[in-house]
Amino acid sequence: MKPFYIDYPQEKIEGHLHAYQCAFCKIPTTEIFGLLENHGKDCSYRIQAGGFSHSEPKKISQVIEPSLSDELD
Ligand SMILES: [Zn+2]
Repeated sequence: MKPFYIDYPQEKIEGHLHAYQCAFCKIPTTEIFGLLENHGKDCSYRIQAGGFSHSEPKKISQVIEPSLSDELD
């Protein structure tokens, strides 16, 4: 179950009646879809929400290196 982030500041997308975007990274809410990782890398909201508030909601998919083979003999 993924945490949803929907409390970021939103603003209307110009020229669209019912479309909104993140006020920081300008990515449409339909693309962000409540997920922090869908914000822009430099998005102030993403940095703040992912860095300080709460207690580490989740780690952004990191590649696990296959270097555990030396444990199996
Ligand atoms: Zn954003």
